[in-house]
Amino acid sequence: MSGPVTTADAEPTEGRADDAAGPTVTLVPSRSSDVAGTAVRRALPTRGRRTVGPWCFVDHLGPAGGPGRPDLQIGPHPHIGLQTVTWLLDGAVLHRDSLGSEQLIRPGQLNLMTAGQGVSHAEESPPPGGRSLHGAQLWVAQPETTRHGEPAFEHHAELPVVELGGLVATVLLGELAAARSPARADTPIVGADLALASGSAAVPLESAFEHALVALDGALAVGDEVVRPGALAYLGEGRESLDLRAVEPCRALLLGGPPFGEQLLMWWNFVARTREEIARARADWEAGHERFGEVGSPLARIPAPQPTWRPASA
Ligand code: MN
Repeated sequence: MSGPVTTADAEPTEGRADDAAGPTVTLVPSRSSDVAGTAVRRALPTRGRRTVGPWCFVDHLGPAGGPGRPDLQIGPHPHIGLQTVTWLLDGAVLHRDSLGSEQLIRPGQLNLMTAGQGVSHAEESPPPGGRSLHGAQLWVAQPETTRHGEPAFEHHAELPVVELGGLVATVLLGELAAARSPARADTPIVGADLALASGSAAVPLESAFEHALVALDGALAVGDEVVRPGALAYLGEGRESLDLRAVEPCRALLLGGPPFGEQLLMWWNFVARTREEIARARADWEAGHERFGEVGSPLARIPAPQPTWRPASA
């Protein structure tokens, strides 16, 4: 869950955010990857799409591991300019960060870490070998107004749940069907877990947002398109409601927000605007700079990879 964005996901080029589109259902395949030995499906960023609103990274992990097998061991690593959102369907993850937070997260709970100008954290399966791990880690890009600010961490043991016919929606971030998450949000956003065992349901949406679905389990249909794990379904802007049908009992994440107006540059665990900022963050991490603090973790610190572009001349 360290989220190492590589050039296989998106080139570290400075430029505009993605264009939004009108209502659509466009399946964008995820890329299979590996994060510290755990299989992940990376739904964002991909070469097909970098952002959905302020959402800029989605890794779907597992199901993996099992009793007696440590299935997640990610040592201390840094972040800037983003919030990490951790959401589990099964298993547990122990989070430790440079703010001194030590928090076990279980299914139905939310861990939200705001990096601002710098934070570091480690994530591991709790001993002695946990249940099968299944979940997602997502990043939300911070806007210019907060991305240079102080880091923070929140754990929400309970979140608002709304029933829409047979669909059960848990609101992680923002608001859905008049239920509002208590979690910090720096820009307009929605993030919700949708559970639909059978039949159909209509989910009210904010029409000024663009939205996407990422299936975590089972299969659901939007119109004629079937959404399964391994792809992101981009839904576009301008929808006031979304009709969903369970093809199999399913769990999916609904993600949305106004198209992110600022250019983003993502590299490794950093979300910034320019290569100079990325190079500074990389150098600061390698030098043990205080902006990233210290994590009290038994795991080894993860070194930054070499940049894939030529350094600017000094
Ligand atoms: Mn991380």
